[in-house]
Amino acid sequence: MAIEDASRLSITRLLHPAVEERPGGTPVTTPIYQTSTYDLPRTPEAARIAAAVAPTGYYTRYGSPNNAEAEAMLADLDGAERALLLGSGMAAVSAALISNVRAGVRVVAQTNHYAAALTLLRDVLPSFGVEVRLVPQESLHEAVDADTDVVYAETPSNPAMVLTDLAAVRAAAPDALLVVDNTFATPYNTRPLDLGADLVVQSATKYLNGHSDVTAGVVTGRAELIDRAWETARVLGPTCHPFEAWLLARGLRTFPLRMARHNDNGRAVAEALAAHPRVVAVHYPGLSSHPQHALARRQMSGFGGMLSFTVESERFATRVLASTRLARNAVSLGGMETLITHPASLIFSHGGTADSVDASLLRVSVGLEEPADIIADLTRALDLAADPAVDAALDPASDGALYPVPDLA
Ligand code: PLP
Repeated sequence: MAIEDASRLSITRLLHPAVEERPGGTPVTTPIYQTSTYDLPRTPEAARIAAAVAPTGYYTRYGSPNNAEAEAMLADLDGAERALLLGSGMAAVSAALISNVRAGVRVVAQTNHYAAALTLLRDVLPSFGVEVRLVPQESLHEAVDADTDVVYAETPSNPAMVLTDLAAVRAAAPDALLVVDNTFATPYNTRPLDLGADLVVQSATKYLNGHSDVTAGVVTGRAELIDRAWETARVLGPTCHPFEAWLLARGLRTFPLRMARHNDNGRAVAEALAAHPRVVAVHYPGLSSHPQHALARRQMSGFGGMLSFTVESERFATRVLASTRLARNAVSLGGMETLITHPASLIFSHGGTADSVDASLLRVSVGLEEPADIIADLTRALDLAADPAVDAALDPASDGALYPVPDLA
């Protein structure tokens, strides 16, 4: 099915999720099941419920009607048999990996990953005897082979905006379990299961929810793999609570509409930044200057709202960061509002590596505002950053990290 068809069909389905029928009037929106436990029938029926995978009426760490509703929508979006909703994107990454590795298993992953995923791969899994090899992202498909048990990819990667050639990885390691973090692209722009992935993980905190008010994560894929991930999560306990699941289901109803706008705004902002004399390079897969633009056109149907760009120096980058008004200096991404971060000054506290992020790089999550307003704000910040008065207004004691916003007109 063409990607446009997939998103056209799924918005109608997203707006009409199955809601449990009730006597005397079925609610149009699923109520929030704010309960940790459920009144059980007598055994043996209770024993049957207790032994089921993700029962919706047993105990909320195991599942809930709100989680089941969001999971059905998420599985549908990814074209997956099943989805598992968890309490954060990292819970999803952890459940997907931990449920498929043990001592001696050979994992190949990228040197570019979201920082906490990198810590899991580089430090946590090897401490349990898992053999993890981190290789340059662009050549992941050349580093995997028939001896690889698990491949973990993230495309485009945070914050470098480098792509992984998923079809090439699949072809090079046909028997490996391929797990893909699709948080940046989302199923609107990249469909990893169609390209041969076995499991897709996403931080639902980002575009899927889209309103910067939920922390959640999702794993999608074949039923037996999701059931296994559920068993791991049941034991480790990173539950997505019913209210968060309910908020996510609400956010998902407008997901395709928001993504269409993120794609348009992302491209407009990337083009404007690329034309600015103070910008050294823009990393956005939709620009023909992106070194993997040809791959991006093959693998992505749109290029999203995430981009990063480099300026002349770290000092200049922190001046830009201090000078935006509309773009808020906040971590996370994929919400309605434009956010900007300086990853190099944040990454060390989150387990990144010194060489993983260029200190003159800024990352932007392009929001849903009028594109002209976002462009005006970033352009103004770049112009102001070239002004010596901005430099003077910055706090010299803060040493380049997290400058307070100077009070400039
Ligand atoms: N994967 C990517 C690409 C991310 O950017 C993030 C968070 O920023 C995560 C996973 C983790 O998601 P969460 O913060 O919801 O645990």
